[in-house]
Amino acid sequence: MAEELKQDEKSLNFLEEIIEDDLKNGRYNSIVTRFPPEPNGYLHLGHASSICLNFGLTRKYPGYTNLRFDDTNPTTEDTEYVESIKADIKWLGFTWKHELYASDYFENLYGFAVTLIRKGLAYVDDSTSEEIAAMKGTQTEPGKDSPYRDRPVELNLDLFERMRKGEFPDGSRTLRAKISMSHLNMLMRDPILYRIKHAHHHRTGDAWCIYPMYDFAHGQSDSIENITHSICTLEFVPHRELYDWFIEQLGIFPSHQYEFARRNINYTVTSKRKLLQLVQEAHVAGWDDPRMPTISGLRRRGYTPDSIREFCDRIGIAKRENIVDVGLLEFCVREHLNRIAHRRMVVFDPVKVVITNYPEGQRESLSTENNPEDPNGGTRDIPFSREVFIERDDFTENPPKKYFRLAPGQMVRLKSAYIIKCEELVKGEDGQVKEIHCTYVPESRSGNDTSGIHVKGTLHWVNAADALEVEVREYDRLFRVEDPADEEGDFKSYLNPDSLRIVTGYAEPSLVKATTDDRFQFLRKGYYCLDKDSGPSRPIFNRTVTLKDAWAKEMKKGS
Ligand code: ATP
Ligand code: MG
Repeated sequence: MAEELKQDEKSLNFLEEIIEDDLKNGRYNSIVTRFPPEPNGYLHLGHASSICLNFGLTRKYPGYTNLRFDDTNPTTEDTEYVESIKADIKWLGFTWKHELYASDYFENLYGFAVTLIRKGLAYVDDSTSEEIAAMKGTQTEPGKDSPYRDRPVELNLDLFERMRKGEFPDGSRTLRAKISMSHLNMLMRDPILYRIKHAHHHRTGDAWCIYPMYDFAHGQSDSIENITHSICTLEFVPHRELYDWFIEQLGIFPSHQYEFARRNINYTVTSKRKLLQLVQEAHVAGWDDPRMPTISGLRRRGYTPDSIREFCDRIGIAKRENIVDVGLLEFCVREHLNRIAHRRMVVFDPVKVVITNYPEGQRESLSTENNPEDPNGGTRDIPFSREVFIERDDFTENPPKKYFRLAPGQMVRLKSAYIIKCEELVKGEDGQVKEIHCTYVPESRSGNDTSGIHVKGTLHWVNAADALEVEVREYDRLFRVEDPADEEGDFKSYLNPDSLRIVTGYAEPSLVKATTDDRFQFLRKGYYCLDKDSGPSRPIFNRTVTLKDAWAKEMKKGS
């Protein structure tokens, strides 16, 4: 991975090389790319990679990118998906030139099909799909010609028109290209162009009962839009021959197809079909569940568009499939959040500290920087008084050597406040520490410390009287194994049962003003953001990512 990163920083990727060559040789003055989602699910990280690639190229080179909904399959598509896809692309920071729908080209595509029939290059086949499959042959054996293959042009034109008019039931006929049943590329063996499907389409309604197959729709849509560089994933390599064949036979705009490797991330699945199962079977709370690798899930989790773009840039593009470590994604979001997130203090498992020499009834406001990494981050006031909460974990009665947190007789600093010293413990009947009685050093106030005392430990804390109770959702990987789709049996049996843990936090009061757009670092905990499920009386925070930074170490080792 480190190799790939370094390379990516210095040199052009293979598509950039091709495009620079095309521009230099005057093949094009500007380029047109497209992002062509099928509106049958929400976008995920794999799509983000394709989006950054397609839109990134026309940011770098003269030209533009279209958003084209590949909506030729009437049964799986939905306007909910169309809307979510548009929102996600915008949120990622990209703007398309034209919003287009392959279904808008149904009439053009029908015309292309008629042209092929007229040229003797397509025929109506009355075989069932089983019969067609049986005649297909294998990699090593040629297929068999359909008995309908040599129908006269006039009959084909008539039958195709009647297919369109709805005279025949689903599955009774298809339109096929007439190429060769012994072609070495199985996809060239008289591929099906149209099938009959009496189905309602989310945009064209009941206007059509024949629908074009992917291969016939996709390349022709590219041509109609004058797409210069049509970028898809590697599984379409064998389709390229057919893509070129249609363009050549129809004499339409010569779009070119280029392929790059699908991006997969470990400990998750990036397939809309699989993600849909997780949603439908309620393994997650929806497409935007913060554990989902969807753009909407990542957004709700607290990821920033910048961090996702950075991730896509860093993984770059490849010609070979590989699985990308989710650690790199986490590294990217940590980097960005460290720069922009406001620091806050939240105690998860509180124990009360009573500062016995702090006057009862007294209260002060400690002005504190929101983000030491950001000089423009501003400040906030934190209330401080005689009773505060600290983390139970930050205290021990029997400290080992080099224990710098709170222990009997030991001193620590309360972050942005004072140095305190543990004087006495108050225990309950169960033997548990109920209160820790401390004294504070009045001259040790942060920013104005004249005490001359140096302590090694600094603890986060919250003023007891103001502590805001919040729900905190701590997320972990959705799957227990690196590549659930590759494991034996049902991928869902590899779900991580502990992917969500809910805890209560006691937060400094300024967090009551949090909005879902804010990003926070809870000191010593991680990065968090407000969840949309929050109510006014009970804020809910999602953990975006922990503070721990295993990936950064890897990067240093690699460089
Ligand atoms: P899925 O299997 O999740 O349904 P798909 O390829 O069928 O993915 P489309 O909506 O057809 O989804 O994809 C839109 C674009 O996004 C295509 O150009 C496709 O190649 C690209 N894309 C989809 N998944 C990935 C991925 N994992 N990595 C890179 N590009 C992807
Ligand atoms: Mg698809």
